[in-house]
Amino acid sequence: MQIETQFESALFRSVGGALSFAFNFMHGQYKSSAMATMMGGPKPTGRGLGGLDGAGTSGMIRAEIDALDPRIRGQILVARFAVRAVPCDCRHACCSGLRPNAEWLLAIAEISELVRTEALAGRSVNFQLRHVLVRRYFGVHCSLLDAAAAAGVDRDTASAHASRVIGYLKAQEQRARYDIEGRLKAAGIVE
Ligand SMILES: [Zn+2]
Repeated sequence: MQIETQFESALFRSVGGALSFAFNFMHGQYKSSAMATMMGGPKPTGRGLGGLDGAGTSGMIRAEIDALDPRIRGQILVARFAVRAVPCDCRHACCSGLRPNAEWLLAIAEISELVRTEALAGRSVNFQLRHVLVRRYFGVHCSLLDAAAAAGVDRDTASAHASRVIGYLKAQEQRARYDIEGRLKAAGIVE
């Protein structure tokens, strides 16, 4: 069965490639050569790569992410695929040349708040420890024991909180990836 799509040929070979592009295109990591490599294959004719408008493509992918329900699934994709730091050109002597990506920070904050009311409902877990639990899930190296100690929580309690948070976010992320794959394929953005 032929699904009617907006493009003569899909723009991306993988869902991960499409999501990385959508979240990071604006930060200038994608030179046209890298973009062509990621999209892969021979250059399609007509619409598609030939007439590619990066901002427009990024916007279309983001619209599909924004339509995910519940909202946390979209935020999980941001936390997973958006870069944590972006180039900074402020030229201050003390600047490392990188600044935190505001979009990534906001996603972590929103997920941490949902974790409070969902995964950790009925438990009292302070702000700092919640953020550490969420950041660790997304691969940021930070000490659970240090955060637990700062929160006045013992090791076993912190581990129990961590298990609940990991289980909850894993289930949401699995569903988010499944849903966005269906949407991007139906829109002809991913092959
Ligand atoms: Zn700077």
